[in-house]
Amino acid sequence: MSIELDSVSYAYGRRSRRVLSGLSYTVPDGFTILLGPNGAGKTTTLKLAAGVNQPGQGSVRFGRLSSGSKAYRMKVAWMPQAITAMTGLTAREQVAYAGWLKGMSRRAAWDASAEALERVRMTEHAAVRTKRLSGGQLRRVGVASALVHEAEVLLLDEPTAGMDPTQRRVFRDLVIELTSQGVRVLLSTHDVADLAEEADHVTTLAQGTITFSGSTADFLTHAHASVPEARRAEAAYTALTGDGTAA
Ligand code: ADP
Repeated sequence: MSIELDSVSYAYGRRSRRVLSGLSYTVPDGFTILLGPNGAGKTTTLKLAAGVNQPGQGSVRFGRLSSGSKAYRMKVAWMPQAITAMTGLTAREQVAYAGWLKGMSRRAAWDASAEALERVRMTEHAAVRTKRLSGGQLRRVGVASALVHEAEVLLLDEPTAGMDPTQRRVFRDLVIELTSQGVRVLLSTHDVADLAEEADHVTTLAQGTITFSGSTADFLTHAHASVPEARRAEAAYTALTGDGTAA
């Protein structure tokens, strides 16, 4: 089962123009990269998929569960762009708090927080106050917070922004490990460099419209045949999104 957006439209205000209009999309299995330039609608799409925002028209479902329900939000985890270190809380307390906010009992959230931190390799920092963690470690706490209630789909909004290549690789390994545990991961980025061969699927979004969704191999065929292999991802991205500013 997966998240299904069906003919979804969304505007940020009554008089605002629609950011998304009649968008239909099913989150693929495995690891998917949601690629598009700034302003394409990636965050908006992820917030709708997370049940954080509700569509003006259309529906967002996980099987029979509607995105407005608490049961839906237990299946789906969303990690926003900025993770806030909560004053006074240790990594474990912050993760447990996230579980409690999702509707777990205090006890269940506390127990699950240890395992969630283990999954992101943060056990040795569990008792450290989150204010004292590095940016990369705080992102791991963000992932653990998203995972604490054993969600089946993990939505990550630009998690690699500001990371150096080593941190990116570590984070990507973490994502791959999660998908091997059966979690679907949808990771948004405007950076083609995030498109490692490890991603199973690529979805491109341009001006609120999905211009491609398929395997990474199919995505790369959108680059012109004359483009050298090292630049194919960038060329395919430009061809599919019209964004020529790709790094
Ligand atoms: P992306 O994540 O791809 O950068 P967003 O989903 O953040 O794109 O934004 C899509 C469009 O929606 C942009 O034109 C942006 O200006 C607009 N938008 C995003 N958030 C808001 C908001 N809170 N209020 C009004 N407009 C917004």
